[in-house]
Amino acid sequence: MILVVNAGSSSIKVAVFQPTDTADLTEVMAGQVSGIGGPLAHIDLGTDDKDIAAPDHDAALTAILTSLAAQGITTQTLTAAAHRVVHGGTTLVAPCRVDDDVVAGIEAAIPLAPLHNPNNLAGIRALQTLAPDLPQFASFGTAFHATNPDVATSYAIPAEDRAMGIRRYGFHGLSYAWIVTQFGDDIPSRLLALHLGSGASLCAIKDGKSVATSMGYSPLDGLTMGTRSGAIDGMAVLRMAEIHGMDEAARRLNKDSGLKGLGGANDMRLLLAADTPEANFAVDHFCYWAARHAGSALVAMGGIDAVVFTGGIGQNSADIRDRIMAHLAFLGDIPVHVVETHEERQIALDAVKLGAA
Ligand code: ADP
Repeated sequence: MILVVNAGSSSIKVAVFQPTDTADLTEVMAGQVSGIGGPLAHIDLGTDDKDIAAPDHDAALTAILTSLAAQGITTQTLTAAAHRVVHGGTTLVAPCRVDDDVVAGIEAAIPLAPLHNPNNLAGIRALQTLAPDLPQFASFGTAFHATNPDVATSYAIPAEDRAMGIRRYGFHGLSYAWIVTQFGDDIPSRLLALHLGSGASLCAIKDGKSVATSMGYSPLDGLTMGTRSGAIDGMAVLRMAEIHGMDEAARRLNKDSGLKGLGGANDMRLLLAADTPEANFAVDHFCYWAARHAGSALVAMGGIDAVVFTGGIGQNSADIRDRIMAHLAFLGDIPVHVVETHEERQIALDAVKLGAA
């Protein structure tokens, strides 16, 4: 059985999968510890649903392993742990088994994902201590886009800055990898994939491989999102930093912008129900810019054969799907698919492919 671990700043989400004969996976259990580092942490896993003390990630993973063991899943029953790691940097471009070099690579990518990679690493290190014999694997949120050509990933900035790793990386890669897994051999040659959740991005998938994506150096770029601005001129960012200071400007762009900045709420359901001019404008902005960036993706893959939507908005809102497709109506009839996102399953499948049983 494979334990999939998604370690965030204050929560660790886990799922246990049993691989089946058909290279498919059965979910045995899923849950999380929330409130890590706070006064009241909570575990919700299988039949466990209680407050616990979890001052750090070690304590949270100890609680998870204890809870799993009490419900019959011991570290002996587990065959592997597989981690979601947000940023693989330039070196970690495929799922892999965790060893010292991989840990060093994740560490090296911390400046690129200061809010995420330290937590992912904390999860890996905690399990190395708690279950030293358990093989660990890692899947990276950026890796799916490693197939983008240099012309797509490079910013036209001086060489010294490019050498510092300032380039486009792209994110939501596990979601896109899952979409490719779901299509299997029937994947359309030029597939436009839109992951529309709180974070939103799109990806040009040519013959199963990413050739372009809307997020860049960070997940701020591209589409209008729940609380992130999406694409914005670098000079406008610098001006905001001048006005507010760097940290406050970053907070505003990441947490107070997007649907929230335009419509007062980051929740698409609320905006669709509100029907105020601000809410309607926010939704219009979301759909318009999704389509604008789709145009760019179409150029990257030289046309389009099908569209696929995923993520909370993409999966659930036919209204938003229709409104985005209406902007693309000039392309003629394009088949539209919907795939439910399952990043944890993709992580477990990656581990299985690497030999986890
Ligand atoms: P996260 O990126 O945090 O995992 P999700 O993928 O769950 O987020 O997406 C959350 C978004 O999906 C929210 O904006 C929510 O309003 C939206 N959403 C969920 N269900 C619907 C629906 N039926 N119609 C429109 N939007 C929806």
